Amino acid sequence: MAAEIHFDNSYARLPERFVARVRPTPVIAPRLIQLNRSLAETLGLDPDWLASPEGVAMLSGNAVPPGSEPTAMAYAGHQFGNPVPQLGDGRAVLLGEVVGRDGQRRDIQLKGSGPTPFSRRGDGRAALGPVLREYIVSEAMAALGIPTTRALAAILSGEAVIRETRLPGGILTRVAASHIRVGTFQYFAFRGDTEGLRLLADHVVARHYPELAEAEGRYAALLGAVIARQAELVARWMLVGFIHGVMNTDNMAVSGETIDYGPCAFMDAYDPAAVFSAIDEHGRYAYANQPRIAQWNLTRLAEALLPLLSEDADAAVAEAQTILEGFAPAFQATFQAGLRAKIGLATEEPDDIALVRDLMEAMANNKADFTLTFRGLSNSAADQDADTDLAILFEAPEECQAWLVRWRERLDREPREGRERRDAMRAVNPAFIPRNHRIEAVIAAGVEREDFGPFAELLDVLAEPFVDQPDRAAYAAPPAPEERVLQTFCGT
Ligand code: AMP
Ligand code: MG
Repeated sequence: MAAEIHFDNSYARLPERFVARVRPTPVIAPRLIQLNRSLAETLGLDPDWLASPEGVAMLSGNAVPPGSEPTAMAYAGHQFGNPVPQLGDGRAVLLGEVVGRDGQRRDIQLKGSGPTPFSRRGDGRAALGPVLREYIVSEAMAALGIPTTRALAAILSGEAVIRETRLPGGILTRVAASHIRVGTFQYFAFRGDTEGLRLLADHVVARHYPELAEAEGRYAALLGAVIARQAELVARWMLVGFIHGVMNTDNMAVSGETIDYGPCAFMDAYDPAAVFSAIDEHGRYAYANQPRIAQWNLTRLAEALLPLLSEDADAAVAEAQTILEGFAPAFQATFQAGLRAKIGLATEEPDDIALVRDLMEAMANNKADFTLTFRGLSNSAADQDADTDLAILFEAPEECQAWLVRWRERLDREPREGRERRDAMRAVNPAFIPRNHRIEAVIAAGVEREDFGPFAELLDVLAEPFVDQPDRAAYAAPPAPEERVLQTFCGT
């Protein structure tokens, strides 16, 4: 069976210096672990073909389908604050772009598909564990309604990769609005390649911000638009307790999607200082630092764009600074609206944000589970009997009870009736997040026993995060003390 994929590779049509032409390196015995059928349909791809030997050959990098123009993208970045003029896709190959049934153009990329000219000392491969982790977390984010790259397929390569130990290898097929990063702009800026910068900016405007195409000062408008999307994105991470883990500028997509799931994690107990990444020794990318870091990264984007803003260097800097000032209000707008929704407020009063802050302070002091607290609060909105279940999430339940009294005083001035409020709250406060201990268990089953049943089941639960699934209530539970995951790893 042959299936045509209508590739239309706009990035590969940019000048040669934007990419390295490189084919994926074949693997010995690929096996399809998981295929995202609904995503395949959205992309206009035939899921049955993707699951066929020919499809698996494409998904494993063993065959390059007609119309694909495989490339590794060049990019640079600041890693943990330090400039690196050349990074690039060292273990990924972009097969090309397709325009889906929804009219959206998306990249199809293989991650873990072998070395490229950007691999430096790396082997270009991915271990199975990180492939499963990225699949789970990116799909969970999508189900939570948060902009993100997606996972189309996971492949067991049949080959070992050598990390600290020998591990089974995997390949992820990643789908993204694009893989253009802040670091892609930096790649050209670091080289003083203003022409490349302009071509890239024009490409990004056409692809991600077409409404700006005719705007006067459109590079300034582009910077402002990327800032607005990133501010909203990071606010939405904060509202579900997500910690990206490696917010380097090469891991920040200008489309506004979450990208590069490495040592990421969702918090269990609320802790603003939470850090999971083993490589983040100083907590640079801790939960509460994320807005500040996003702004720092966007300042690097602004720097890269300076030559396009004005021929006069001082004027360019002044303009960039003004645009960067848009980050904080954009972040606060999404974050505060989200916090109000999380506690069920439909109207606005001046003290509302302080009220939520007091709850969160009590949560932090009492090691209350972030997700369960807000989900429990949703139930308390319609039924005061639910308060007990909520309060026991706090080490000192009376602190929660005291806050609930203040909350109900505030709710007395709300127009909505309890059940309506509860339903609205349940639509923003998920019951299910990809908890670290669940992810680790799923990875262990896959890596140690090639048992992917737990992986598929976890994906299934996380596909409906806002719906109570009584027979899967265990997936909502935080880890027992001995299950707690303290560190996460890139594991590349
Ligand atoms: P990351 O930590 O995933 O953001 O990757 C940072 C840089 O290291 C990127 O340029 C990657 O392509 C590269 N890289 C990560 N893992 C590998 C690997 N196994 N082989 C080659 N390059 C890699
Ligand atoms: Mg990266």
